[in-house]
Amino acid sequence: MSHEGIRFVSAEEAARAEANQPDRLPTDAVTPNKVRVKLTEGTGVEIDWRDGHRSSWDFRWLRDACPCANCYNERGSSGRVPGEPKPKSQDPFAQYQAPPRPTEVSPVGKYALGIKWNDGHNAGIYSWTYLRSVCQCPLCHPTSS
Ligand SMILES: [Zn+2]
Ligand SMILES: [Zn+2]
Repeated sequence: MSHEGIRFVSAEEAARAEANQPDRLPTDAVTPNKVRVKLTEGTGVEIDWRDGHRSSWDFRWLRDACPCANCYNERGSSGRVPGEPKPKSQDPFAQYQAPPRPTEVSPVGKYALGIKWNDGHNAGIYSWTYLRSVCQCPLCHPTSS
């Protein structure tokens, strides 16, 4: 076994390489100052970012924006964007679905929130970068159409 060709990059180098990528948001934009998960109120998640920006999402939106591979592929194949709800079932005998609500929210390392949902789904890891990129505020998400 040879380790030729494998180069170990220092964390500092990696960070610099990341920062050089054109589409990358500045570190302050993807570093939360404060994260509020409104579990008791049942409303959603609010994040104050280090760059002074504030984002909020309701739980239903977050459930429909689950970034796990399954949900991502499922949205892709039905042409939905993150946060877009599934079309309502026309089946009158369809089971009533309780509104999405997390049963557990826990930090994943220093980079993400892991959310377990009341429908049993628990694969979603919502990274700060992802959350900031789907900020729903009027500045980031102008409703032009
Ligand atoms: Zn998912
Ligand atoms: Zn925003």
